[in-house]
Amino acid sequence: MKSISLILLAAGNSTRFGLSAKKQWLYQYDKPLWLFVLEHLQSIYRFENIIVVANPQEITLMRSFSSVTFVPGGSSRQESLSNALKHTQSDFVIVNDVARSCVPKELLLKLIEHAKALHCVVPALKVSDTCYFDGAPIEREKLLRIQTPQLSCTTTLKELLKTAEEFSDESTLFFNAGKCVEFIEGSTDAHKLTYKDDLRLLRCLQTPINLPRNGFGIDIHSFEENKPMVLAGIPIESPFGFKAHSDGDVAIHALIDALLGASGLGDIGELFPDNDPAFKNADSKELLQKVTQLVRGVGYEITHCDLSILAQVPKITPYKEQMRAALATIMGISKSSVNIKATTAEKMGFVGRKEGVTVYATATLNYYRWDKI
Ligand code: MG
Repeated sequence: MKSISLILLAAGNSTRFGLSAKKQWLYQYDKPLWLFVLEHLQSIYRFENIIVVANPQEITLMRSFSSVTFVPGGSSRQESLSNALKHTQSDFVIVNDVARSCVPKELLLKLIEHAKALHCVVPALKVSDTCYFDGAPIEREKLLRIQTPQLSCTTTLKELLKTAEEFSDESTLFFNAGKCVEFIEGSTDAHKLTYKDDLRLLRCLQTPINLPRNGFGIDIHSFEENKPMVLAGIPIESPFGFKAHSDGDVAIHALIDALLGASGLGDIGELFPDNDPAFKNADSKELLQKVTQLVRGVGYEITHCDLSILAQVPKITPYKEQMRAALATIMGISKSSVNIKATTAEKMGFVGRKEGVTVYATATLNYYRWDKI
């Protein structure tokens, strides 16, 4: 068996994709796409090791799914590849983009069969459409569309990546260095997922299941005089506000932790440390907006949130509807999906002594239904 490592590039921001979820996090049944692709390729060949190039913010979450090696993506494809190659000593390496989600077994095995020292082996497709270049027709018979996965001799690839010049794939890197690039017949099934319409062309994809995920959050803040009070995104008439590094919106903080809990993205302290000057007097509405984006990015939609505000003072009831509307607008969901409840502490404990407020929140998420767009 040839010694081959697999590098899966899954660090993209999916800017051309046009959906709230990033490509790598589109759920296939109950698995994110990156894991679905990884397990598919792993089922075809026993790779010496597997390295996933990931967005640094997503690595902790990815580790909860798999124990393969994760490396942070660089500022370019080449930098990402160089980072990943530090983790492998195998003779050959296969690099695949997570966007090539449905690589057929025969294609992968054919690549492996052609592995040779110093070579790069790539799938290529002929072009059947009439083609023009610079306003004039050209001989389409001479054109080839290059796909991934591509197989490279590891030592040669490591050496070639030292160049400062940028290349779009390994084949052009090998070609420009005068090394051998070998073409094998590609497959239309290895179509690349770039735009949302491509989702219809990938035949191996599976629709996500309905599996609600719940998260819970709690936050407590004491009062501080001469500070404006903001609660659930709404200014509250009060002689005091909340003592905090940020604006102290204890309701939004509890909600953020509920959202992070449901999505597995950590907690508010990890994302927005209270000793970081960047978050001094931070507007919690902006933090909620960022968290909403992160939660959506990793493949979820927010279906429901419920908050219980435990306060002796101020009176919450007059603000409840405004609060629901404010939170719903920030999260881009309907007001009917956000609930606010209020209760006093019957004059007991620190809440009852009017020293501060406690908020409990839950959030329910579902996998983003990319199949319904
Ligand atoms: Mg807080």
